[in-house]
Amino acid sequence: MVGLDQLEFDNRFVHELPGDESADNTPRQVHGACYSRVTPRVCSKPQLLSVAPEVAELLGLDLAAFERDHLAQVLTGNRQLPGMEPYAMCYGGHQFGNWAGQLGDGRAINLGEVTHQSRHWTLQLKGAGLTPYSRHADGLAVLRSSVREYLCSEAMHHLGVPTTRALSLSLTGDTVLRDMFYDGNPEYEPGAVVCRVARSFVRFGSFEIFASRGEHQLLKQLADFTLRHDFPELLSGREPGPEVYAEWLAEVAARTARTIAHWMRVGFVHGVMNTDNLSIIGDTIDYGPYGWLEGYDPEWTPNTTDAQHKRYGYGAQPNIGLWNLIRLANAIYPLVGEAKPLEEALEVYGEIFAQCRAADMAAKLGFAHYQQDDGELIESLLELLTQTETDMTLFFRQLAQVDISPQTAQLSDAEQLAPLMAAYYQAPSHKVISATCQWLADYRLRSQQSLAGSGETNADRQRRMNAVNPKYVLRNYLAQQVVERVEEGDTGAVDELLGVLRRPYDEQPQWERYAQKRPEWARAKPGCSTLSCSS
Ligand code: AMP
Ligand code: MG
Repeated sequence: MVGLDQLEFDNRFVHELPGDESADNTPRQVHGACYSRVTPRVCSKPQLLSVAPEVAELLGLDLAAFERDHLAQVLTGNRQLPGMEPYAMCYGGHQFGNWAGQLGDGRAINLGEVTHQSRHWTLQLKGAGLTPYSRHADGLAVLRSSVREYLCSEAMHHLGVPTTRALSLSLTGDTVLRDMFYDGNPEYEPGAVVCRVARSFVRFGSFEIFASRGEHQLLKQLADFTLRHDFPELLSGREPGPEVYAEWLAEVAARTARTIAHWMRVGFVHGVMNTDNLSIIGDTIDYGPYGWLEGYDPEWTPNTTDAQHKRYGYGAQPNIGLWNLIRLANAIYPLVGEAKPLEEALEVYGEIFAQCRAADMAAKLGFAHYQQDDGELIESLLELLTQTETDMTLFFRQLAQVDISPQTAQLSDAEQLAPLMAAYYQAPSHKVISATCQWLADYRLRSQQSLAGSGETNADRQRRMNAVNPKYVLRNYLAQQVVERVEEGDTGAVDELLGVLRRPYDEQPQWERYAQKRPEWARAKPGCSTLSCSS
């Protein structure tokens, strides 16, 4: 473990790939380059709100070895360490189904890259000022969006979902003007910076931009760089060529499928699955107007910009993952030269997603294995959950408490349903009660069969369920409450919730209040139910 000043930066992205010749920081089109060198903006009064020690550990960083103020200066971009070479990446993207041209790191600045225990990490500030990719915006981030990004990055990691990480959250001491509701009433909000950490920040859109411009040499350079560093097992001594690129697409497809299956398992809705927000290594990336399903509703999206079409709603995510992969396949087509191997690679997506989904649903229901005819049981449950507003997280967590012994059949409907009542937002109708009890009868039989077949006990079943059905997720209103507490000066609020989210599958009796379903006041409150992209 080393102090901040001893981190050794290797910065291979800037050393191995072509960069922008101009150092001009004003927004513009950048051609022939994977990145532009930039200087983070100096903010007036950096203040650390939270640091994640487990992320510091990944970097080999000894948090005790330096002063908090120094850390705040560095992690907001005010002070650069020797070896840092800040840069913003050039990428494009399809936004809401349409090609949007150059996007790039408009409010993100990579400080530098370090290797620790043979693992390579990039440190990136989000909200540290203008870059050539800032377009019409200011390159800044506000507290509410930064709290949300910081907490969700870490919450997702602890849930077992591949994700970019977050090392720190800081206030800048400056205010930022934002029109939160896009209604012509902008207000000043506290500015903040998150230091994100990832193995790679390269996105699908990083390849699309070069393909769209016919910059095929650059496309190959970035693809080979990515293969060399992030997918070395695919090369194993081979030179990159059409076959390797197709295998690479299949691997990206598999990773994307696994990540999206995790989202479906935990009830996460990304909200802006544009191709610039899909990571080439399969991490969840860019936490903007994301949300967590409360009432189970496959159409639900937290993103107000998408309220009408619901392109990125919960249930649409698996299909959108494929749509995005097809854009990636088109982008790398010049490297392969024929469509067939790419089409075959894309088939992997559906196969892996179906496998993961089946295994996850079997585990969520407590079965030792997925069986072919479980499909019907699962579908009928998901249909039932849409019949009356039912909290997804609580329902699955509480299902482990349902008694599956044969005698239960003699209990009244109310007694059978008792463990699940906490999940309903309104008292369920008689129709829903009787349909649920009917479903529970089938579920009991299948659960007993699973236990008999595997030699497991009911306690094993409950353990299996509790390991995949989280008790604590970053409910939309919880994030908003933390934002409000910090705005009122309660700087410990972030760490308090982060502490709970570190153990999402454990019972934490003292934090029961963080496991409650959304209160009625939060149903329509901005920030608690829906969000805009304005951050
Ligand atoms: P998103 O979909 O939120 O990840 O952002 C889409 C694009 O807009 C990315 O290229 C961002 O860098 C850029 N962007 C978003 N907000 C800002 C901002 N406040 N300043 C500059 N660029 C931004
Ligand atoms: Mg983005």
